[in-house]
Amino acid sequence: MNTEQINKLKTKLEEEKTVLENDLKSVGHVNPENTGDWEATPVKQDIDGADENELGDKFETYEGNTAILKPLESRYNEVKKALGKITSGTGFGVCEVCQKTIESDRLEANPAASTCKEHMDVVTE
Ligand SMILES: [Zn+2]
Repeated sequence: MNTEQINKLKTKLEEEKTVLENDLKSVGHVNPENTGDWEATPVKQDIDGADENELGDKFETYEGNTAILKPLESRYNEVKKALGKITSGTGFGVCEVCQKTIESDRLEANPAASTCKEHMDVVTE
């Protein structure tokens, strides 16, 4: 994997991170007491036209937001982790299980992949 390829994947990851952040902000917020963790924003079930919170129209309950937020948060953390590896110059594109280079077509499909094809089922993605 050369620098040009890594830069391309980095751009993809940064774009995905921005999209995920926007999605996360629509259903939750960063927990102020536990920096970096997202929690779902409780939404009033009483949907009143006077309520300026538009989320009330989209989602009915806190549980609904949590169900949406959780998978977004885990994907967001994977993307952040992969970007951190690129930034620090260590570990990006290397399988966390066997330490071998991750196949480039696998990284093309999922730039945040932390395992090679052989071990893609070992670490939950
Ligand atoms: Zn592996």
